[in-house]
Parts: sequence; structure tokens; C-alpha cells
Amino acid sequence: MRENLKRLKELNDYGDRVSESSKVEETSEEIPESEMIQCPCGRFIKSPAEYKLLYLKKEQNEIDILCPNDACYLRELGFVKFKVDEVRRKLIVQSASFYPPFVTWNAARLGAEKAHEILKQHLKEIVTKYIDWNRVKEDYFKRLEEAKAKAAKEESSSS
Ligand SMILES: [Zn+2]
Repeated sequence: MRENLKRLKELNDYGDRVSESSKVEETSEEIPESEMIQCPCGRFIKSPAEYKLLYLKKEQNEIDILCPNDACYLRELGFVKFKVDEVRRKLIVQSASFYPPFVTWNAARLGAEKAHEILKQHLKEIVTKYIDWNRVKEDYFKRLEEAKAKAAKEESSSS
């Protein structure tokens, strides 16, 4: 629990900086499969760049983290939740987590400590490098404007 809170705080700190562009660093080191994160479907995930990120649950301000394998039976491995400061036009990351089946699978393979360490790093990179926050923000405020316009129109037609 304490660990979770700490993680949340760290991610919030990143959340404030997500609009700055971050450099993508590629590591050329080869990681043996035994030390790699794996989805229970069998697919190895070498780098956090491989996850698919889907912004579908717009009303919930949630971005799904999906397995890179299209035929995966789990599909959703985690999520990133954010909130919006509409006045300052800022997105703030609220939480980022992987779901228990994925975490437990890797903890059993790599040992809990190591698995958590790598998964935490993956979440961090997903939040800081791979989510296109500018696009999410644009989309959010566009929908907000549309909702406002619709409300105003309804008001004027009812009076
Ligand atoms: Zn999978």
C-alpha cells in the first residue's frame, strides 16, 4: 500500500511534466527471455514501447495498456488514469497500474521484487514517453467545447 502511494506520487510528478517532449533512448543491450517481462499469453515485452495504448474510455479519463499480441486472451494489461484541470488546461496523471494477472505472472517468473521494479519502469516510460498527452488534451478540450456548444444551443431553443 505504501509502495502504491509512493508510486502514485512519482507518477504525479511526471504528470506535471508530460507536455515537455522527452527524448526516446534506445537501449541496445540484449535482455535474455528469462529476465524479460512476459504477458501470460506468451508474448515477451522487451520494451515499454511495445504496449498498445488505447484511449477509448474517454468519459472515465482512462487510457488502456494493451498486450502487443493481437490474439491475446487478456488484452488489457493495465491502465493510466488522469484528471483534468480545466482552468489551467493541464492533464494530471492520477494513477498508472498493471492488472493483477499480469503482475502475478511476472512476479512468479522473475521474483516479486524484480518484476515490480521492471513493471514500475514500464509504467513510468508509458506515462512519460509513449502517451501522446498533447493529443489526449486536444481531444478532451474539443469534446468539452462541443458539449458546451450543444448545451448552449439546447438552452436557446428551449427559451
Ligand atoms: Zn498477451
